[in-house]
Amino acid sequence: MNYVQLGRTGLHCAAVSFGGIPIQRSDAANTRAVVDALERYGMNYIDTARGYTVSEEYLGAALEGRRDKFLLASKSMVRDYEGMKRDVGISLSNLRTDYIDVYQLHNLPLKDFDQAFGPQGAYRALAEAKAEGKIGHIGVTAHSADALRKIVEEYSDRIETVMFPYNIVENQGEEILRLAREKGMGTIAMKPLAGGNLDDWKLALRYVAASDAIDISIPGMGSPEEVERNATAAEDLSPLTEQELEQCQAIRKELGSQFCRRCGYCAPCTVGIDIPNNFLMANYLRKYDLADWARGRYAGLAHHAGECVECGACESRCPYQLPIREMLKGVAAEFGY
Ligand code: SF4
Ligand code: SF4
Repeated sequence: MNYVQLGRTGLHCAAVSFGGIPIQRSDAANTRAVVDALERYGMNYIDTARGYTVSEEYLGAALEGRRDKFLLASKSMVRDYEGMKRDVGISLSNLRTDYIDVYQLHNLPLKDFDQAFGPQGAYRALAEAKAEGKIGHIGVTAHSADALRKIVEEYSDRIETVMFPYNIVENQGEEILRLAREKGMGTIAMKPLAGGNLDDWKLALRYVAASDAIDISIPGMGSPEEVERNATAAEDLSPLTEQELEQCQAIRKELGSQFCRRCGYCAPCTVGIDIPNNFLMANYLRKYDLADWARGRYAGLAHHAGECVECGACESRCPYQLPIREMLKGVAAEFGY
């Protein structure tokens, strides 16, 4: 495993580390097997969140007795002082530790800056938790380039890490991430596999690792096999050849910018549609020559794209501004319901 320093935090992290979103679709036994694999392959940076339902709890149980082998990061979407104070306490309890290495303001949009950094804001609670030795470093995660720019340009004295989507088809944050690095902030690439939309994970992880804008990437992993797959890929993080760069260009052309990253922020759907899984099944139908399998899995979903009543509630929650209603119409047309 290649290790790199996460900006001025001084933390030495595996260049390809662990994103904990998929743990919420897992169980306690599988989480233990995932953490066993992380330990075996030296993937030492574990990122989770208060918002990932059971992820913190399952990881906490699996980390019992080996907490010191890992660096832990979590995050909360609350913006007020009392709420953040409470959430840091819950994260510590869930993760069964008295210290979390990095704690982040989760998915911070421009409109929340004044509250989060105000006198009664979440940042104050994080600064206090840091002074009390409960957390080591304070970070921010963002999905909009404007929010990322504001953090880097105006808050680099207080914020030590930034996490932002970065992959073959999403490099709109590259320039500002590079500036973040120059300012000593640690840079973390979320969604290095574009939410599972990039089939060639070796190429995808090498693309991110070769960037001078990124310190580490945290692909989401939900099984020991996925840990092994990414760890094996991480053994070779050599820069891309001319031919591979052309391959990336072709992928950009094919995928465009309107694709679901499977982050789940759009939930809950008014009529119960599992939006990312509807899109995923359509991807399988189109890309993997697994049409019959995809039709079977789609049939097993509780609610289908064709049931969308076009209320639009999900679209206001999607950080990528996807036209979910239109996209679901496409899914319904492809499957027929
Ligand atoms: S627009 Fe459709 S998919 Fe979105 S919340 Fe409403 S019913 Fe659900
Ligand atoms: S539709 Fe948007 S919010 Fe929902 S999972 Fe996909 S990218 Fe995330």
